[in-house]
Amino acid sequence: MSREVDVPALVEGVLAGDRRVMARAITLVESRRGDHRERAQELLVELLPHAGGARRVGISGVPGVGKSTFIDQLGVDLTAAGSKVAVLAVDPSSARSGGSILGDKTRMSRLAVDPDAFIRPSPTSGTLGGVAQATRESMVVVEAAGHDVVLVETVGVGQSEIAVAEMVDSFLFLTLARTGDQLQGIKRGILEIADVIAVNKADGPAAGDARKAARELAGAIRMLRGHTDGGWDVPVLTCAGLTGEGLDEVWAKLVEHQDRMKASGEFDERRRTQQVRWTWQLVRDALEHQLRSHPGVRTAVPDLEKAVVSGELTAALAAQQILETFLARRP
Ligand code: GDP
Repeated sequence: MSREVDVPALVEGVLAGDRRVMARAITLVESRRGDHRERAQELLVELLPHAGGARRVGISGVPGVGKSTFIDQLGVDLTAAGSKVAVLAVDPSSARSGGSILGDKTRMSRLAVDPDAFIRPSPTSGTLGGVAQATRESMVVVEAAGHDVVLVETVGVGQSEIAVAEMVDSFLFLTLARTGDQLQGIKRGILEIADVIAVNKADGPAAGDARKAARELAGAIRMLRGHTDGGWDVPVLTCAGLTGEGLDEVWAKLVEHQDRMKASGEFDERRRTQQVRWTWQLVRDALEHQLRSHPGVRTAVPDLEKAVVSGELTAALAAQQILETFLARRP
């Protein structure tokens, strides 16, 4: 990124749907440099009135469940039907694991060359908070550029799903048919945030097992979640990203989920709540960053931690000393 950032040119290019400008705008919102952050906020303020119109769908599942194959197929189906599709990703571990990077274009070979699709891999550096922030801001960029579907890919581990659930309208969880206790491999937390579940790779001879697994899972979810009057019963479908079987049904359920939420007012409420929670998350992140980079705090922390570990100091007293150091001597 060059030193001079021409915000009006970025706004114009993004609104015109210029892919190279979109990529530059996203590089800007991903940057942690202070002056870049300022320019990024100027850009986002201009783009915000043009954003918000997309269906935002989170897609998660363990590595190997078939996410990229699924998104590639779903994406080309959607663009064939006239949509403009953006794929974003949240995977703070991708830099460290060195393996597949979510949202990697080589993993979605047909969508990557589709003129109506825009794929952006996960930012590879930073904390989950930083990566999630970049992805949320990238979402503003792709929506302002006219994409009416935003798919946010994440992995079925850790806190990433929670972060993604906080930025999408509906959450699709992909899983595989497993024998035995269906709930064993699937964390309870996922079941609580999933709006639609699909047992993937339900093609060929595996189809029967997948349908059986889906029925068992549906039963287990009903027990876990109970049923609320007028609430959404999480559907468990089967599909195969590789052949495209069942993808229409999965998409139809995601659309139905959003239509139901819109009709009940829950949709607007969810987006409003997300914005407010997001604001406070940013406040917490910024405060923690300031706290940890405060010279006095940095000097005091190793000894205080040692004292807590050895039992010389209680955690509460150590916390108090850290806060006093932070608040007393601003750098
Ligand atoms: P990801 O790690 O979740 O993104 O999974 P991939 O999309 O890379 O798929 C992992 C492997 O599963 C690849 O070898 C795919 O070819 C295979 N695969 C993906 N979807 C299907 C499917 O629907 N059916 C079958 N039989 N294999 C699939």
